[in-house]
Amino acid sequence: MFKFNCLLCGAVCCTFKSEEESPLVFPWEKRRLERLNKSSMFEPYIIYKINNEEIGVLMYRWKIEGRCLFLNREGRCTIHNSKPLSCKMFPLIIGLDDFTLRVSADCEVVKNHINDLETSDPKSSFPAEYPHAMKVFELIIKYDREAKKKGWNREIFKKEYSAHRIIDIDNLIKI
Ligand code: SF4
Ligand code: SF4
Repeated sequence: MFKFNCLLCGAVCCTFKSEEESPLVFPWEKRRLERLNKSSMFEPYIIYKINNEEIGVLMYRWKIEGRCLFLNREGRCTIHNSKPLSCKMFPLIIGLDDFTLRVSADCEVVKNHINDLETSDPKSSFPAEYPHAMKVFELIIKYDREAKKKGWNREIFKKEYSAHRIIDIDNLIKI
């Protein structure tokens, strides 16, 4: 059975060709990252439209182009214990179109074991990463459930929402 062993190379998961590739983070993770480094930049990504004036943000895009601010010269993460769930679960990723669990083929280890992965169980093959991915799903499902009761639908942020008042979802819904 294939068992993922991270090379700690910091390649695709810590260095980004474009902002579109950079991690999605929950609002409380964003606030923690801002406290750790004031240069961190974010923009709303997965949101609930509340009305014509307000949106609730479920996940922000952490805008990183090039190396992450927290990657040291030796290629190691300097905030290992407090890095966001998106970093902890990689190379597991969530497909944003259908919200299914996927594996990033950009990771060199994954690329070299594509055939093994076709028949493997992600829970056994990614024992360290899988619980973090499940935590992300659990949070999204819980917020979706509460938002639905209020009549808010989850969607991707649109440029025309820029004038809306932006509110972190954990300040709107307690789960
Ligand atoms: S997850 Fe993959 S790309 Fe990231 S550090 Fe580990 S081996 Fe490298
Ligand atoms: S926080 Fe750490 S693991 Fe996440 S992208 Fe930055 S250096 Fe990589």
